[in-house]
Amino acid sequence: MTGQIQPLENGPEETEEMNAAWRRRSGKRLMPSITLALFFLAPGMAWGAGGLSFKPGFNLFSSQQDVQLGKESAEEVDKAYPLLTDPQVLRYINDLGRWLASLAPNNNSEYVWSFKVINSSEINAFALPGGYIYVNRGAIEAAEDEAQIAGVMAHESGHVVMRHGTHEASEALLAQAPLAILGGILGQTGSLTAQLAEMGLDLGVNSILLKNSRSAESQADEVGTYILYQAGYDPHAMAQFFQTVEKRYPQKAIQFLSDHPVPEDRIKAVDREIPLLGPAKGWKTNRPEFEEAKKRLLSLPPPPGAKPVPTVSAGSSGPPPAPSSRLTRFDGNGFSIAYPDNWQVQPSEDGVAFIPPGGIVDVAESGAAQAYGASLSRFQPQGAEQGNWGLLEATQELLDTLRLSNPNMRVIKQSGMNLKGRSALATLLEIDSPLQGQKERDLLVTTRQSNSVFSLIFIAPQSLFDAYKPTFDSMLQSLALH
Ligand SMILES: [Zn+2]
Repeated sequence: MTGQIQPLENGPEETEEMNAAWRRRSGKRLMPSITLALFFLAPGMAWGAGGLSFKPGFNLFSSQQDVQLGKESAEEVDKAYPLLTDPQVLRYINDLGRWLASLAPNNNSEYVWSFKVINSSEINAFALPGGYIYVNRGAIEAAEDEAQIAGVMAHESGHVVMRHGTHEASEALLAQAPLAILGGILGQTGSLTAQLAEMGLDLGVNSILLKNSRSAESQADEVGTYILYQAGYDPHAMAQFFQTVEKRYPQKAIQFLSDHPVPEDRIKAVDREIPLLGPAKGWKTNRPEFEEAKKRLLSLPPPPGAKPVPTVSAGSSGPPPAPSSRLTRFDGNGFSIAYPDNWQVQPSEDGVAFIPPGGIVDVAESGAAQAYGASLSRFQPQGAEQGNWGLLEATQELLDTLRLSNPNMRVIKQSGMNLKGRSALATLLEIDSPLQGQKERDLLVTTRQSNSVFSLIFIAPQSLFDAYKPTFDSMLQSLALH
């Protein structure tokens, strides 16, 4: 699949004009009355003679190595995802992306600034080191105007110039070996990805290069907002888009929300930064070019179906590999939870499923069913409109629904429990496993979250339930509802 996309050699004509406009403006970015606001600056932001400056964190890699690592990882990404090949949309995204990147602080002439569009309706965008940026078709389609998609791309450019990918990798490496040894290893020639893989760093599609911390997210927000301002867009657009996505399309943005944990007070932080950037002015939100690109996208055939988690057949295969003891955090809408890092996150009908490799099995009559892992969902119980319902009755309502598709379901035990100060109900169930001839044990935990029932179900074949129990316990303990 490589070679389908020809990066544009030259930026668009308007880029030069826009850059010139930016240069004319950039002399008067300082305002005298904002010194007090400096107290609120995040650690990566500093105040220098020339205005705001941004300082990347600890890093063992050179910026050339950022590019090398980004290139090697991008080759993997290109193989793993369906890429959009429409020249009109690609030209638009590259023109916009390169113009925005040209306004980024800490830009480096080595960075590649290649923008590709993944042909998926999931809302996602991510950046690899060195300027390899991917935007999903779903993100462009979900953006209400150009300022919003520019905000996403500016945010991703922020990850590049703040070198968050190799910063994360550096931290992980430092936890494993002393600096002196690492210096020698990273100084060798050859594939960096291979060297890092030897040291246990996962650089595939679920690469450590994509796992951003909350503080990295805040920094990318700061840089993204800065870029939007310099480009003349409404600098609120970036944070607004992220908030809209989180609220309106949480199921379509699972990967995005997982790789880009939502910083606290995102909107407020952006509101604090904007006056530091300069005076408010007639910010633009849209251009006809965006509307044309969006129209073009909508005229193309729909994206190929989302890649399902590979299934195994119900009769044949052995159990999945043991759950990894290393947990990774998933931040969803209103909750966060840790899960073994060898499991996959998959949107389900009304929630999220956490699935070990081979944890979904093919069932002839009903398609695929989850035989291992955990699944999380929310629903409004009867009486929710009046705000008048009890957890016990609501849980019974859920059990009644489950019984419709699992007629042999049996409640083994039900007891109240304390879930970090919330009263919850734990229900242990026995049902028929989708694995042929086996029984399954499910632990259902329900609690109230505002006016909904929040339910978490842990699933394993009966014979393996005890082996999975410690993993289920750790996940439950890690659950935070907000
Ligand atoms: Zn991010």
